[in-house]
Amino acid sequence: MADTLKMFIDGRWVHAQDGATLDTLDPATGLVLATVPAAGPADIDLAVRAARRASDDGTWGSAVSERERSRILLRMAELVREQRIELAELEVRDCGKPIGDAYGDVDEVAFMFEYYAGWATKISGDIPPVGPDAMSLIVKEPVGVCGLIVPWNYPMMMAAQKMAPALAAGCTVILKPAEQTPLTALRLARIAELAGVPAGVVNVVTGVGNRAGEALLTHPMVDKISFTGSKVVGQHIQRTCADQLKRVTLELGGKSPNIVFADADLTTAIPGTCNGVFGNQGEVCSAGSRVFVQASIYDDVMQQMTDFAAAIKLGSGLNPTTTMGPLVSAVQRDRVQGYVDIGRTEARLAFEGQRPTDPALSGGYFVPPTIFEATSNQLRIAREEIFGPVMTVIPFTTIDQVIALANDTEYGLAAALWTRDISRALRTARAIRAGVVWINDSQPAPSETMWGGYKQSGIGRELGPYALDAYLESKHIYINLSN
Ligand code: NAD
Repeated sequence: MADTLKMFIDGRWVHAQDGATLDTLDPATGLVLATVPAAGPADIDLAVRAARRASDDGTWGSAVSERERSRILLRMAELVREQRIELAELEVRDCGKPIGDAYGDVDEVAFMFEYYAGWATKISGDIPPVGPDAMSLIVKEPVGVCGLIVPWNYPMMMAAQKMAPALAAGCTVILKPAEQTPLTALRLARIAELAGVPAGVVNVVTGVGNRAGEALLTHPMVDKISFTGSKVVGQHIQRTCADQLKRVTLELGGKSPNIVFADADLTTAIPGTCNGVFGNQGEVCSAGSRVFVQASIYDDVMQQMTDFAAAIKLGSGLNPTTTMGPLVSAVQRDRVQGYVDIGRTEARLAFEGQRPTDPALSGGYFVPPTIFEATSNQLRIAREEIFGPVMTVIPFTTIDQVIALANDTEYGLAAALWTRDISRALRTARAIRAGVVWINDSQPAPSETMWGGYKQSGIGRELGPYALDAYLESKHIYINLSN
């Protein structure tokens, strides 16, 4: 019998007011894991009013010292570390990823709270010179009430990536996890409660996007929406928020290039390239799913990548020998499978792995690693975000040609390149229009750095000090000193 859980609004654990619920499924089996509330506009209204009150009366802003905010965020980090095993297993059950990856996610979540706990006491303004008879103070203030809407591929990481800087900046939040993966977000609410976050400051509402999410977008008391998810929903969010001129941060999709130059060290380039596409089942916004390989080493690289993909072991994420879990849902499996079918018609299928044979996993949403060889960057499998374990490999000859190919996309989230030549590496890195470029690596995103996309991959930046800007307003206070 699956658990029936409550959501967290204004310091209380509650069901939806109309009693609506939704099931969250185990993607490895298709069985119901738990039932959570399906929040509607009335629930969102309660959560937003609580966050508004906690913002306006200073519960988390002016009435709390920065040191106190910092201490509470550190306590949240400690609690995440104390619950490391439980949180990682819960994440695996809800979204399918291999357990080793989930431990990595939980560790980074704990670090994010520590990192932004440090920032809570270091946010300061400026005193620009304005002559002897006046003084100007530029002060930083919290934006206010923030709606945080996150996807299902890194559920806890995406939640913490927004929640930690927002809380450090003094904002109050309403977090809406994806309907497919609400469980670790609810645990984060419990951790905030245990750490002593006052009522109303952190609210976690579970529900579907076009009802709960939409109510958050349109609520007039919400000052800011920070969204991570698909381009289509991101466009809708920006249009909707424009009506009330809400502040908006968007972290959207990608179709990132991965370039293997002929002088690359293949002992790192092959696993790096393959993990950059197949890691997290390919459900990664920055996946380097367009692989460009220099013609002189093309056959060797294809052989080695095929061997790498053949060694990937599909299974339940809870099995420590599994290296690729199921996709998050039947909808996502069908979507990715649809792209594999398209690929068969427009490119050459070079490799397709095996689904797990364990009968206990027969209801799971598995799609095996798949590699297509193409000669054009114009194919649908080379232009559209697939968000699954599907690689498209295209040969190139010159550096100028591959830079043009890499930039021939509507997206600009990330890029990876592999070469031993520092000049070639930096020339290519500078020429690629993307928010992140990895040289001789793929996918690391330490919380101290920066994350965000060029072009249609998003607006704004997360991680590091850059995330704080998204949750702060700047105010100029001018003082006349002449009398
Ligand atoms: P999605 O856009 O379908 O959903 C994301 C979130 O938005 C969910 O919580 C959903 O409930 C909510 N939502 C849906 N419709 C809404 C509406 N009308 N109003 C308000 N909220 C609404 O995306 P997804 O399928 O969950 O995630 C996959 C996408 O996320 C991919 O495109 C991927 O590239 C992107 N992504 C980007 C990053 C990044 O950092 N750039 C990170 C992870 C995922």
